[in-house]
Amino acid sequence: MSQVEGFWWVTFEDRIPGCIDHGTEEEARAAASAHGSVKTIKALPYPASPRLAPVKNEDFPSFCYRPAACSGKGYCINPGGRACTS
Ligand SMILES: [Zn+2]
Repeated sequence: MSQVEGFWWVTFEDRIPGCIDHGTEEEARAAASAHGSVKTIKALPYPASPRLAPVKNEDFPSFCYRPAACSGKGYCINPGGRACTS
């Protein structure tokens, strides 16, 4: 694939949120819709748990611990200025 791939935090109408760890936004939306009714989809700086199948980058740890806060920002910064990875 030539397009930039990313990590996406997806919220659903009918289940708990999760991370799609590959693809463009449209690809992630398509993958997420297999899990439930997609509400919102936002870019994540790093993968986060829970990871939704199909997980492409299993070797990439779920570095982002607060995906609801970090999604859409493009970086991980928590209250107190701490990154999820620190
Ligand atoms: Zn984070």
